[in-house]
Amino acid sequence: MHILLVGAGLSGAVIGRHLAEAGHRITIVDARDHVAGNCHTERDAETGVMVHVYGPHIFHTDDAEVWDYVNRFETFQPYKNRVKTTSRDPQGELGVFSLPVNLHTINQFFRKTLRPDEARAFITEEQADTTIADPQTFEEQALRFVGRDLYEAFFKGYTIKQWGVQPSALPASILKRLPVRFNYDDNYFFHRFQGMPENGYTAMIERILDHPAIEVRLGTQFSRDQAGAYDHVFYSGPLDGWFDYELGRLGYRTLDFERFSYQGDYQGCAVMNYGEVEVPYTRITEHKHFAPWESHEGSVCYREFSRACEPEDIPYYPIRQVEEKALLAEYVARAEAEPGVTFVGRLGTYRYLDMDVTIREALDAARAFLTHAQEGTAMPAFVAAPL
Ligand SMILES: Cc1cc2nc3c(=O)[nH]c(=O)nc-3n(C[C@H](O)[C@H](O)[C@H](O)COP(=O)(O)OP(=O)(O)OC[C@H]3O[C@@H](n4cnc5c(N)ncnc54)[C@H](O)[C@@H]3O)c2cc1C
Repeated sequence: MHILLVGAGLSGAVIGRHLAEAGHRITIVDARDHVAGNCHTERDAETGVMVHVYGPHIFHTDDAEVWDYVNRFETFQPYKNRVKTTSRDPQGELGVFSLPVNLHTINQFFRKTLRPDEARAFITEEQADTTIADPQTFEEQALRFVGRDLYEAFFKGYTIKQWGVQPSALPASILKRLPVRFNYDDNYFFHRFQGMPENGYTAMIERILDHPAIEVRLGTQFSRDQAGAYDHVFYSGPLDGWFDYELGRLGYRTLDFERFSYQGDYQGCAVMNYGEVEVPYTRITEHKHFAPWESHEGSVCYREFSRACEPEDIPYYPIRQVEEKALLAEYVARAEAEPGVTFVGRLGTYRYLDMDVTIREALDAARAFLTHAQEGTAMPAFVAAPL
């Protein structure tokens, strides 16, 4: 069959490769002038540093098949994500603290020398607001778990800047577990496998796409009237975009990156968050620290600003509150009635997806397609449900 993939990000590349290896003919179009979608990396012309163009990407997974998959196409260097934050302590003094909030953060922030059990008792008995019996909002949940001091320093300002709303307007469900560690583990992710592609994500995705049955057309905008020329379409663009936004737009946050260069080491780590609401950016990323096996005199940094996504902006984080979910349900119903197309990836299913989940779902979608083709049954609109 001749299959069209809209989007040359991880979703399109992985599905395309799997179906090409199964003997199908693949055309992939992407509106951008590069492959890799939001994972795109490129060398900065001024400094030679590998830059994560659409924001920092760290690969982490517990899925052994996905880990083997990425290692088939690229060498991964060991990398642990250790995030710092600049914020104010209870006395109002600015300091640099370790994230996620851990025993080091607690001891430094409260100027104590607590051991794990003492810290747990201190937070859950002295700090947590136990008068909140049934937390309804993100703010109440955070106050209930960690108390006002930690909440204001590490959760409040960052959340307001990231989501553009007060934490009192967000549901409690966002903070499901106690967001604090009572040991000195500052590895941001819990996953077994973590690393960075030695030559960047774009090189890895170029290799995934390097197959004689795959044709990639960059700088090519897809529109729905082109779908009829193919036996099937996998669409990793925005779900509402497929329908020309007829019912309205699904809400996203977008990011602006303010680039600046520096001679030497600007901040000593890859990611520095800014907890104070008065600082307009959420974090600064210093890209050379994502590749500690390389050596660069110059440095390139991004100040990252979050705001509401307008029609011409790149959609980054789906908002997925009650209103958006109602609109999403309407688009999902329409999509399910649409023959010959499967909606995939972060935009096609309107969900935040880490790269490992994106690859897992792409492999599942490609396998489902082969099974349906063999059995002569219709491929569904979604393999991973958006709702
Ligand atoms: C700021 C940020 C940081 C992240 N950090 C991490 C991280 O540290 N670790 C991690 O695992 N994951 C991270 N992610 C998630 C990661 O970016 C996604 O998992 C991944 O990009 C999903 O790939 P995709 O192919 O589904 O979508 P995308 O990468 O968005 O690719 C979709 C492609 O489709 C193209 N397209 C859309 N519509 C059309 C059209 N009509 N015509 C032609 N082309 C079209 C777009 O140009 C785009 O290239 C992060 C995401 C963000 C936003």
